[in-house]
Amino acid sequence: MPIPIDIRKRPASVKVHVSTGEGVEITWSDGHVSRYDFPYLRDHCPCALCNDERQKKDKFAESAAGGASALPMFKPRVKAKSANAVGNYAVQIEFTDGHATGIFSFEHLREICPCEDCARAFRQASA
Ligand SMILES: [Zn+2]
Ligand SMILES: [Zn+2]
Repeated sequence: MPIPIDIRKRPASVKVHVSTGEGVEITWSDGHVSRYDFPYLRDHCPCALCNDERQKKDKFAESAAGGASALPMFKPRVKAKSANAVGNYAVQIEFTDGHATGIFSFEHLREICPCEDCARAFRQASA
């Protein structure tokens, strides 16, 4: 018997608006709707490379705290070039900045849902 999946992390419908650049919209089995724009997903890319970069940024932010603040780097608004389903558990997104190694599992996507309810349900306890 497979372990029953949390229905909150099972999508009922997934829409990726690649051509309009709007982002990803997922309706979950519990009726909740999540909307992510592409820059948000790019920032939350779960691949090893991005994990590394985020850790470095955290360290940098720590060492810069109290000192002069770094100039914000200009970043063009990233969009998706293409998106593909990976089995029935994830979506792979190729971003316009050339990054394509991010595989967003639905479990991860539900956990990074930008709404307050999900922040409370999934992100506070795990900190
Ligand atoms: Zn990545
Ligand atoms: Zn949510």
